[in-house]
Amino acid sequence: MTYGFETLAIHAGQEPEGRTGAVVPPIFQTSTYAQDAVGAPRQGYEYARSGNPTRDALQECLAALEGGRRGLAFASGLAAEDTLLRTVCRPGDHVVIPDDAYGGTFRLVAKVAERWGLSWTAARISDVDAVRAAITDRTKVIWVETPTNPLLNVADIAALAGLAREHGARLVVDNTFASPYLQQPIGLGADVVVHSTTKYVGGHSDVVGGALVVADPGLGDELAYHQNAMGAVNGPFDAWLTLRGVRTLGVRMDRHCDNAERIAAYLHSHPKVKRVYYPGLPEHPGHETAAKQMRRFGGMVSFSAAGGEESAVEICNRARLFVLAESLGGVESLIEHPGRMTHASAAGSPLEVPADLVRLSVGIETADDLLADLEQALG
Ligand SMILES: *Cc1c(COP(=O)(O)O)cnc(C)c1O
Repeated sequence: MTYGFETLAIHAGQEPEGRTGAVVPPIFQTSTYAQDAVGAPRQGYEYARSGNPTRDALQECLAALEGGRRGLAFASGLAAEDTLLRTVCRPGDHVVIPDDAYGGTFRLVAKVAERWGLSWTAARISDVDAVRAAITDRTKVIWVETPTNPLLNVADIAALAGLAREHGARLVVDNTFASPYLQQPIGLGADVVVHSTTKYVGGHSDVVGGALVVADPGLGDELAYHQNAMGAVNGPFDAWLTLRGVRTLGVRMDRHCDNAERIAAYLHSHPKVKRVYYPGLPEHPGHETAAKQMRRFGGMVSFSAAGGEESAVEICNRARLFVLAESLGGVESLIEHPGRMTHASAAGSPLEVPADLVRLSVGIETADDLLADLEQALG
């Protein structure tokens, strides 16, 4: 029997608890577990960095939602990324990253992993030939986000999976923007899916977390070894909050998409907007690829202000219902200026973003209220 997405979100890893029948997986707020005899832990649990039932429930659920063989949860998206890079790469290896990667991913690769001996090339991941040209004989990982942050570029996951296989590299897909409800990279040939569960998976802007899901159980074992050895795990309460969010992922994503589609269409015809970046718009260069590999087009919309940088900043400052804040993927709508906020650290690098850009994380409020707020903010 195979279950649908929403059923898995609510039930995978979440059997009623054995002793009490608690319908919701309890928060096992403990650091250690009693053993019946030396070397005989009761249920395989010894110490909570190595294993915790609340975390296990989340991991099992995420693996099911991504169609992977194993899920691993971490303290943050970047903790997951660091554990992944230092599991699958050795000093001297090379990775290809998107030329508009999430700023924290860029910083981790360029400022931290580089000192540890990893080299990297930034490539336009919406262009398979550009990615091919960036590959060297030391390339171990092709890292893509799709859609990307904040320009919503779209990578062809199946094509890049084929390219990675040809070159003995692994394809890693940061699926944070799409969430497993909209896109399942493992089914398209990716080796590893990365999440900042802080965003859509958690969905309520109340917890930071990360996750990895893998197709190959052998790689899953290696990553689990490093999860314990490096220790960047999430706590039981954070795992519980994330799992509470996951149960409604499908219904939330549908409303995020409904609202984002209306807002993208509205901005598209607004005289104070120069350009809208939303993969759901037919003229978006990644529209066809997105339509092929995504269920819908997501809740993130970026646009360029016709009045340039100052106008973009003013729009952000004038918004009321759209809260001016970094991050994304929560039920509430957020607005930000990537050039001066989330992507300020990319200034002067190949990842610099346009100064007139505004990024919206469209929430699940009443769409008319969101449109009215944008109307007054655009002035
Ligand atoms: C936020 C984010 C990350 C990093 O996750 P944290 O939970 O903040 O560490 C990675 N990738 C993308 C696309 C993100 O939006």
